[in-house]
Amino acid sequence: MPPEPQLNQEIRVAAQARLLEASHGAREPQVIIEQAHRVFGLRALALVSSFGAESAVLLHMVAQIDPNIPVLFLDTGKHFTATLDYRHQLTQQLGLQNVQDITPLTESLRRDDPYGALSMTDKDRCCFLRKVEPMTRAVAPFKAWMTGRKQFQAATRQHLPSFEAVGVRIRINPLAHWQSDDLITYMRHHDLLEHPLTLQNYRSIGCMPCTRPVEEGEDQRAGRWAGSDKTECGIHLSGLTQQLEQKGAIK
Ligand code: SF4
Repeated sequence: MPPEPQLNQEIRVAAQARLLEASHGAREPQVIIEQAHRVFGLRALALVSSFGAESAVLLHMVAQIDPNIPVLFLDTGKHFTATLDYRHQLTQQLGLQNVQDITPLTESLRRDDPYGALSMTDKDRCCFLRKVEPMTRAVAPFKAWMTGRKQFQAATRQHLPSFEAVGVRIRINPLAHWQSDDLITYMRHHDLLEHPLTLQNYRSIGCMPCTRPVEEGEDQRAGRWAGSDKTECGIHLSGLTQQLEQKGAIK
């Protein structure tokens, strides 16, 4: 149980997320981003991007609204070289002014993953060191951050809202309601650079050791941690809104 002041803050943030969801949750992604920009401003709003298969859409929208919005790229040290090249090229194409590389703590890697092979024996620990801890640190200065998650990506995301509370912060998913066709149409209309691995049927692209292409008819994220029961890295833990509601803390 968090201390009283933090719990009060979580309740306030959960209520704010509910209000934003009610007023803007069903609007178009650009309207959601504009509203987030208005409410939180440049200093308190960031975008978390993997520069993966569909990242160009949200990055382009953000660049159109304000190219100075901080873009946090989680450089786990395990990305495909193609992703790192794509990150560079797309940043140039879109004119993004504030892309920040977020990296794991050197000391933690030296201690717990000295040979860089932890993903083969303990994926949860590896994701914690390379994703969860760095991301928690990276979003700490912000009141809200945006992600590119969509409802259609997996059964576990089918009820994803546009605005959700995560502790004392708000996570925003402007593309939550978009379908695959919407993304393709947007990419073509704006002539956006595609991640080169999409041509090899990689439909969700994460770290190299934990990503494979998908087969016809598979979930978009079926190629992530294939062969294990892991489906999320942990940086997208579900928001507190529902938990607080269940506890009766908000109505
Ligand atoms: Fe490690 Fe794989 Fe998680 Fe990347 S996705 S942090 S390599 S376990």
